[in-house]
Amino acid sequence: MSANTNPNPLAKARIAVLGYGSQGRAHALNLRDSGLDVVVGLRPNGPTWHKARAEGFTVAEPGEAVKGADLVAVLTPDMVQPALYTESIEPNIKPGAALLFAHGFNVHFGQIVPRKDIDVILVAPKGPGALVRTEYERGRGVPCIWAVYQDASGHAEAITRGYADGIGGGRAMIIKTDFKEETETDLFGEQAVLCGGASELVIAGFETLVEAGYQPEIAYYEVMHELKLIVDLFYEGGLTKMLQFVSETAQYGDYVSGPRVIDAGVKARMKDVLTDIQDGTFARNWTAEYKAGLPNYKRLKQADLDHPIEQVGARLRARMPWLQPSAAKPAAEPLKKAG
Ligand code: NAD
Ligand code: MG
Repeated sequence: MSANTNPNPLAKARIAVLGYGSQGRAHALNLRDSGLDVVVGLRPNGPTWHKARAEGFTVAEPGEAVKGADLVAVLTPDMVQPALYTESIEPNIKPGAALLFAHGFNVHFGQIVPRKDIDVILVAPKGPGALVRTEYERGRGVPCIWAVYQDASGHAEAITRGYADGIGGGRAMIIKTDFKEETETDLFGEQAVLCGGASELVIAGFETLVEAGYQPEIAYYEVMHELKLIVDLFYEGGLTKMLQFVSETAQYGDYVSGPRVIDAGVKARMKDVLTDIQDGTFARNWTAEYKAGLPNYKRLKQADLDHPIEQVGARLRARMPWLQPSAAKPAAEPLKKAG
C-alpha cells in the first residue's frame, strides 16, 4: 500500500477516538486497518462501550483515552462536545497534540475555545459512517473536506491529511475548507434543502393532493415514495441524468411548473436562513433549546411523526418488503446530522 512509499505522519502517533457511533466506529476501524494505533474513549458502559470492546479496541473513559494521545478525534454528538471538552479533553490533552472534529459547529460558534498549545483540525467525510467503512473495505474511500483552525505544532496540515488518508479519504479526494465554510454550508444544506426543505416540500405536495380529494395512498406514492427515484438519478448523474430518464412530459412540467413552486420568494427566504446561520442566531437558539431540555424540538418532532403522511406511509411501506433493511435503522437520534 502507499503507506510504504509515503509514511503517514501519524504512523507513530496514538489516536484517541471519542465516540463510537456513525463516524466514530468507521474512523476507528479504518485507522486501525491503516496500521495506526487507536484507543476508543467512551462513557463506561454507555451504549457503544461493549461494541467497541467486542470489535477489539482498547476502550477507556474519555479523559483516560485523551492522556498520552497525539491526536484526539471528537466524534460524539455535537451538543455533548463542550462539556466533554471542558471535563475530559482540556485537562488531559498533551501540549502539541491535535484536536480533530468532523463538524466545525462548536469551535466556529465559540462553544469550545481550544487551548492555544494544541492543533485544531477538521476532517469531515462527505458520507455517513457506514459508507466510510464499506468503501474503505472495498479499497476505496469517501471524499473528505479538511481544515486547519489552529496550528500550534507547525505540522497541522500534514497531520490532517494523514488522518484523512487513514480513514480512506485520501484514496478518493480531499478538499480544503475552513471551519466557517464547513459549519455554515453544512447547517444550510440540512436546513434549507436536505431535511427542512425536502420534508416540507413533500408534506405540502401531499396535503395539496389530499385536500383536493385524491386518495392519501396515491398521494404518498407520488410525492414521497417516488422521490427516491429522482434523488438516485441526481446522486448518480446530476440534473443531466434525471432529465435523461424522465419522460418529455415530466421534463416540460418541470420547466414550466418547478419555478412557480420554488420561486424567488423561496430563494429570498433561503438567504434569511443563511443569515441566521452566519450571524449565530441559529446556533444560539439551538444551544438554548438543548439546554432547556428540547421542549420545542420534542413538540415539533411529534407533529411530524403524527402527520397523516406518516400513518399512510407506514401502512404502505409494510407491503413493500424490499424497503425493510433501511426501515430497520432506528429513527434519527436527537442530534443526528443529515450530512
Ligand atoms: P453518533 O450519535 O452516531 O455517535 C455518538 C457516539 O458518541 C456514540 O458512541 C455515543 O455513545 C457517544 N457519546 C455520546 N455522548 C458521549 C459522551 N458524553 N462522552 C463520550 N461519548 C459519548 O454521532 P455521529 O453522527 O457519528 O456524529 C459524530 C460527529 O461527526 C458530529 O460532530 C457530527 O456532526 C459529525 N458528522 C457526522 C456525520 C454522519 O454521517 N453522521 C457526517 C459528518 C460529520
Ligand atoms: Mg419539518
